[in-house]
Amino acid sequence: MKTEEPHAHPARLSRRELLLATASAAALGAAALARAADSPTPAAAAGAAAAAPSPKAPTGPFSLPALPYADNALDPVISSNTLGFHHGKHHQAYVDNLNKAVAGTPYAEMPLEAIIAATYGVPDRTAIYNNAAQHWNHSFYWRSLKAQGGGEPPAALKQRIEAVFGSVDACRKELLSAATTQFGSGWAWLVQEGDRLAVIKTGNADAPLRGGQRPLLTIDVWEHAYYLDYQNRRVDYVSGVLGKLIDWGFAAGNLGPA
Ligand code: MN
Repeated sequence: MKTEEPHAHPARLSRRELLLATASAAALGAAALARAADSPTPAAAAGAAAAAPSPKAPTGPFSLPALPYADNALDPVISSNTLGFHHGKHHQAYVDNLNKAVAGTPYAEMPLEAIIAATYGVPDRTAIYNNAAQHWNHSFYWRSLKAQGGGEPPAALKQRIEAVFGSVDACRKELLSAATTQFGSGWAWLVQEGDRLAVIKTGNADAPLRGGQRPLLTIDVWEHAYYLDYQNRRVDYVSGVLGKLIDWGFAAGNLGPA
């Protein structure tokens, strides 16, 4: 679906945001996000060419990253309608609310992952934490998918999967189970813990950025990720993602030293 709505031309990560992200040496996953943002796809290049910032663009340190594919690239598993709302409205709102929440605070000068770490579990910082974590999670989720995804992982990742789950199919089943048994809103993840891989689920905005876990890929199981296409059939959405969209190459690129 082509549209002239502002959300069809999201700004790429700002240079400042990239610098902030890459400055955090301890930050898990930041390098992957930065690498992704450094490699503009045709969709990102088109967005950059549109250059002029939207009059509604928020002022603040954080900006909505362009999708790494066209908004109809994941159709029919994820329709352009769903992707347009999810990226252009939901993710944009997390970015806008984060910018508002950090304005005039020391968090405005901190890398995204440092904000997430500093506000986790702090009662009067819940709004900052939730919006920061959701900005991180969604940026990671877009990269966890691709058109003509699915299939078999690259050899290095496949061996690590087989060592733990027995087979790639068993790993897919674990991800499907985690995604469909997460009660309410949340995320299903493939993570690395030391030399072992694991499938986990998190509620609401939480991401596996603590406790020695390194996220490899994620699936958003908030209703807004699938309701327009599947209504309540979360299992059909997740099955479609695992079969046709999941980007095992992205997950392999996020593997760290054992
Ligand atoms: Mn979402």
